[in-house]
Amino acid sequence: MADEQSKSLKEQFWDPVAGFGVTFRTMFKKVVTEQYPFDKDQHPTAPRFHGRHQLNRWPDGLEKCIGCELCAWACPADAIYVEGASNTDLPDGSGRFSPGERYGRVYQINYLRCILCGLCIEACPTRALTMTNEYELADNNRADLIYEKSDLLAPLLPGMEQPPHPMRLGDDEGAYYRGEYSAPAPAATGQEGDK
Ligand code: SF4
Ligand code: SF4
Repeated sequence: MADEQSKSLKEQFWDPVAGFGVTFRTMFKKVVTEQYPFDKDQHPTAPRFHGRHQLNRWPDGLEKCIGCELCAWACPADAIYVEGASNTDLPDGSGRFSPGERYGRVYQINYLRCILCGLCIEACPTRALTMTNEYELADNNRADLIYEKSDLLAPLLPGMEQPPHPMRLGDDEGAYYRGEYSAPAPAATGQEGDK
């Protein structure tokens, strides 16, 4: 009771009015609440946002990764594990996953460790590794946050074939690396006579 009496006139009357004034003004402001995850398109990420990684392909579907491990060495968080293996040109075309000598047989990124800094994509000599705008990298168990090669590989676009298969060369090897390759006729995909 003594406390009530000791409050000044301003504290007793004006302060509550000022408080409700803030509430009243805010009622008419534009709502900034985002209805995530129902309305994700309201605020898209910046074009160069560092999200989930992607292992890219050449226009014929072969993988750009050569299993060199430079990305793993560049990673400050030790989040990448790579095991390379040699491509072989078997008669049935079953030994080639990338155009060069080697390919990434095992490729893992541990998103429990990754800080999405992008140093790995700077280190990659073939632009095999880039980052997408995908940011939903949460899960309810640790194992599913270790992404395997199959989780990271870019989807097959029209004209691409699922490796292994031989290189679909253009006029020469330079044409292949410039992307000027000869797409196989759909019926010939993975069949005898591949070059
Ligand atoms: S983005 Fe950074 S932390 Fe993540 S895998 Fe690449 S180098 Fe490592
Ligand atoms: S992603 Fe790039 S740096 Fe990493 S192993 Fe493959 S080619 Fe080498």
